[in-house]
This record gives sequence, structure tokens and C-alpha cells, in this order.
Amino acid sequence: MSDHEYDVAIIGGGPAGATPAILLAQKGRRVVVLEREKFPRFRIGESLLPYSMGAFDRLGVREILRQKAMPKNGAEIATACGTRQVKFFFKDGFRLKHGDAFQMERAAFDQVLLDRAREVGAEVREGVHVERADLRSDGVTLHTNEGTVRARYVIDGSGRHSILGSQLGLRRPYAHLQKFSCFGHYEGVQRDEGIDGTLTRLVRGEGFWFWLIPLDAQRTSVGLVMEAATFRTRKLSPEAMLDAAIAACPLMRERMQHSTLLGKVQSAGDYSFRNERFTGDRWILTGDAAGFIDPIFSTGVFLAIHSGERAADAIDLVLSDATKQTRLFAAYEKNLGGIMDKYLRFVTAWYEPQFIEVFSTPAKRLQLAAAVNAVLAGHVGFSWGIWWRMELFYLVVRLQKKWPLCPRITERISLEV
Ligand SMILES: Cc1cc2nc3c(=O)[nH]c(=O)nc-3n(C[C@H](O)[C@H](O)[C@H](O)COP(=O)(O)OP(=O)(O)OC[C@H]3O[C@@H](n4cnc5c(N)ncnc54)[C@H](O)[C@@H]3O)c2cc1C
Repeated sequence: MSDHEYDVAIIGGGPAGATPAILLAQKGRRVVVLEREKFPRFRIGESLLPYSMGAFDRLGVREILRQKAMPKNGAEIATACGTRQVKFFFKDGFRLKHGDAFQMERAAFDQVLLDRAREVGAEVREGVHVERADLRSDGVTLHTNEGTVRARYVIDGSGRHSILGSQLGLRRPYAHLQKFSCFGHYEGVQRDEGIDGTLTRLVRGEGFWFWLIPLDAQRTSVGLVMEAATFRTRKLSPEAMLDAAIAACPLMRERMQHSTLLGKVQSAGDYSFRNERFTGDRWILTGDAAGFIDPIFSTGVFLAIHSGERAADAIDLVLSDATKQTRLFAAYEKNLGGIMDKYLRFVTAWYEPQFIEVFSTPAKRLQLAAAVNAVLAGHVGFSWGIWWRMELFYLVVRLQKKWPLCPRITERISLEV
């Protein structure tokens, strides 16, 4: 039984835990990270966003990531029937500060961040499972499989099962985003040459979509996202479902015809939710532990790192002056909640059939595509130029339901039986 005293205890060693661990340890705070698994461990979420680049500099990991990762310069969105394709490059995004990003296997990415946390002085304890937290006005006690840990503040970065969110009953699922996903790593997936080969490719059918993410010279991450209800009706294993969906789409069949599955197909479901609050007296939720919207725009790791940075900055100030907690935690709630609202609206629009019709009809004159591109890169600060263009984009998607302002896609592929 241990009874240590720390400034901050962090639950989880993923990006939402390692980011604040690095920043707080760099400030000289006494930090412990409690991670239930032994790293490296598998995680899905390999496509990163340009607006994490600034954070990678601050964390001191950009150079090591650059050596280990694939560059990512943008994305391609195509229809499953192969009749419509649109590529966009972050360098063309509306007044973007960061024009590129990384694609990287998460086991290696998360290991880089956790190693960095150790290097700058955080105590990292792997194989330690936090079972529950006693939250009191004078500090926090975490109960683990290895005894108790005491700290002045706690950051919960424990991922979608959110230890504190569950304990406090804060979880609210998004009823309209009940999805199921199956995914695996493959060798031999067809790839374009040059810069086009670095793009995340999204292939969209009726009520489902695929991702193809290049991980290195050989391996590609391939995943399918579909309605959870359709998956249940099909009564297939995740691997058989992924194979059946690939077989149903001409574009995917072509790209996957010479590919081989490496390891097993894995799956995830019931992942979209938001906790009612992200902070309370002496605690903050970061990353997926605060909420997760949907994998479509690869915002998960970006939000884990962004919230980890904001949480570390707030707690560092509160450690020096406890009277600032109410104001700084409220600002954290507002910032993270506002970003989640933005992406939720965008994700909800994506699942409208008209989204792809509008998105794949570039309107260069108004720079609508450039504004959408900027949001996809992680530009979440307020910019008037992006705001009005996004409002116009949503309006066109709404109007497109009634009037064909953009050419209709008539060849629709569905996974329903
Ligand atoms: C199908 C799918 C595809 C995705 N694709 C992308 C993508 O392309 N790009 C992207 O950016 N994001 C993607 N995501 C999202 C991404 O996976 C997450 O947003 C990201 O992993 C969040 O990081 P995190 O640190 O909050 O949580 P995690 O990465 O889940 O880390 C949480 C850590 O906490 C530990 N933990 C949990 N419980 C305890 C406990 N009780 N005690 C101690 N430790 C504990 C876990 O072992 C884990 O290591 C995808 C998600 C899904 C479901």
C-alpha cells in the first residue's frame, strides 16, 4: 500500500494523459501517471491533424515524431461507386498556420509521448488500474490495484470509459451517432505516388464509410464505419462484415485487390458521447474521457492533446493560487465544449446524404472548400472568414435537400439487406 503525495495524479497514459504530464512536469510539478496497460499497446486513431504540430513543439516531440511517422498532407473523399472524388491539401486551407500533419501507428505514437513524460520527470506507473476516486475539498485519493495514491488534483485521461465520468454519472450518448466500426492493418493496399500517397482516403457509401490511412511504406490502416443497427441485422463477425463491405464497393475492391490482412480485424461500437461536465472541484476530464464525437474527421487525438494542454495550463495556475479554480475551470469547459459543438455540427452534416454532393462540387470563388479544409485541419479558434463560409456551406447542404444546387449522386451503394 502506497500513500504518495503528488500535485497532480493523471489517470491514463494515452495522449490525453501524457500531454498534461509532460507540461506539468516541465513546470516542476510533482506528477504521477497511472496507466493500467503496459506500453506499447494497440489503439485506433492513426491520422493526426496539422493543428497538433504547435503542441508537438511545446511537448518537445515534433522531431522524433517526424522521424517515425508518415507525413500527411491532406485527404481525399470519394464515393463508394467511384464516380466522384475530391482531394484537398492542407496547404490550400483558409489562412492556415500549419500545412501538414502525421499519420502514425498509435502504439508507437503513444509510446513517444509517455517516454517523454518520464524523461521530463513525471513518474509513470504502468500496470496500475485506477478503480475509483475519492474527491474531497482537500485533495483526491485514487484507489488502485496497487494501493492508494493521493494528489492535490486529478486529471482523468482514461479514454472513453472515463473513470470519473462513469463514477459521477455524467455520460450522455449522442442518439443520432449510434455507429459500429471494424478495422485492421493491411499490406499491399493500392496507393498513389508522391504527395497523393500521404493522404487519408475516405470512401463513402449510403450510411457507411471507409478510411484508408497509410502507416508506413507497406502498411495501411483500413476501417469501416456503419450504422450499429445495420451491423446487428447483418449478423456477421467484424472481419466478415469488413470483407462484405469491401466486396460491395467497386472503388474499395480495386484498391484492396492485392492486399493481405496483418493480424486480426478489431471492432468498436457505442463510442459517441459527451459528459455533462468536464470539471469539478479538484478534477478535470481530458480527451475521450470528456467525450468522443465520431472518427470521421480524425479529431480524437487532436482534442486529446488540445484538452491536455489546456488542462495542464489551468491546473498549473490553480496550484499556485487555488482561488483561480472556478474561473479557469469554467474557461476550460467553455473552450472544450465550444470545439466539441463545432465538430458535432460538422459530423452531423457529414451523415446527411447531400454533404458529399456539395463537398465534391468545389466552389473556388467563395473559398468554401478552403474554409472546410481549415476546420478539418483543426483550426478551431474564432475566425470571421471561416465562420461565414462554414455557415454558407451548411446552408447549401440544407438547400441541396430540396433543390439540386450541386450535381446529384445517383449511384448509391448500401450495406442494408
Ligand atoms: C473507430 C475509430 C477510429 C478512430 N480514428 C481516429 C483517427 O484517425 N484520428 C484520431 O485522431 N482519432 C481517431 N479516433 C479517436 C482516438 O482513438 C481517440 O480519440 C484517442 O485515442 C483519445 O486519446 P485519449 O488519451 O483520450 O484516450 P486513449 O487513447 O483511449 O487512452 C486512455 C488510456 O487510459 C488507460 N486507462 C483506461 N482506464 C484506466 C484505469 N481505470 N486506470 C488506469 N488507466 C486506465 C488506457 O489503458 C489507455 O491507455 C478513432 C476512434 C475510433 C473509435
